[in-house]
Amino acid sequence: MDSFGRKIDYLRISVTDRCNERCLYCMPEGYKGWERKTDHLTAEEIVRVVRVAAGLGFRKFRLTGGEPLVRGDVPEIIRTITAIPGVESVGLSTNGTKLAALAGILHAAGLRTANVSLDALDPEIYRRITGGNLDAVLAGIRAALAAGFERVKLNCVLMRGVNEQELWPLALFAAEHGLPLRFIELMPLTRTDVLTEKNFLPIGDAMRLLSQHDELIPQPDCRLGHGPARYYQLKKTGALVGFIGAMTNLHFCETCNKMRLTADGKIRPCLGDHGEIDLRAALRNNDDDESLRKIFLEALRLKPLDHQFRGQYQPLRPMTAIGG
Ligand code: SAM
Ligand code: SF4
Repeated sequence: MDSFGRKIDYLRISVTDRCNERCLYCMPEGYKGWERKTDHLTAEEIVRVVRVAAGLGFRKFRLTGGEPLVRGDVPEIIRTITAIPGVESVGLSTNGTKLAALAGILHAAGLRTANVSLDALDPEIYRRITGGNLDAVLAGIRAALAAGFERVKLNCVLMRGVNEQELWPLALFAAEHGLPLRFIELMPLTRTDVLTEKNFLPIGDAMRLLSQHDELIPQPDCRLGHGPARYYQLKKTGALVGFIGAMTNLHFCETCNKMRLTADGKIRPCLGDHGEIDLRAALRNNDDDESLRKIFLEALRLKPLDHQFRGQYQPLRPMTAIGG
């Protein structure tokens, strides 16, 4: 439990700050602040952190980045951590570009769920947002389904004037394939010219846009995974759509259940607060598990009540360097 009585049992682990895409909202153009490879936690270090965290009561883990699948040892990390006592679920967040090649291997390693970013179905708009190739992502989604993943969720970051016309096609795609789709408000974690009022599309507006096509039926009891989305079902199409309103939902942090581990080994108690505590030095110093537990508990003590995004928040690191 943190100082505010919230049960914190979800750890999102960034395995790399590198990525093969360049999303507007995540990686500033010309970004040069990469960690050195040697500064990234090794697979063994990540596994040790998971073991300690599971011993403390963390139950849900997610590998993310940057793009986790640019790192070759992710299947091995998954295979090892899914077997750790206390670990109840292991998920992966990915841009999907490498899933076509890796879905079978990841499934064999024990992965059963993945979240795939999909901000547009128009290839040009997709490229404009991410710099990447939509076909590779669609092939990745198909491969994950064919490999037998139990759940593949889609994530779409809302940007006015960039992908608002894509919301309905995405909902149709989600319905067609039976995949839950979450719409995420843009958070201030990239270069500031992307973060203008003009670009910001609140979840309320996204709901209004969708309701021009179909009725949104609230699903207050729907829990898919461990995130903060509020779900609705579209009446005619049947699509399950979730909304993550970190900026406009003033109660957003009340149900927070997570902390983050950055690729360079810092525990970050809150995505929207600069505070971080270093774990890597203790890992590389071969400190005992008790010392690692103390660092986790200190991070838990420092976990703030709310994120700081609504003030004049200026990111010290972009999303890609924190871990989404
Ligand atoms: N590369 C993977 C991917 O794209 O899913 C995993 C890392 S990414 C940082 C994790 C999630 O964070 C993605 O769904 C992405 O869309 C979201 N994200 C990145 N920057 C964001 C921002 N500034 N505001 C809101 N969501 C953001
Ligand atoms: Fe890469 Fe994911 Fe960030 Fe896009 S959102 S730049 S795919 S890490």
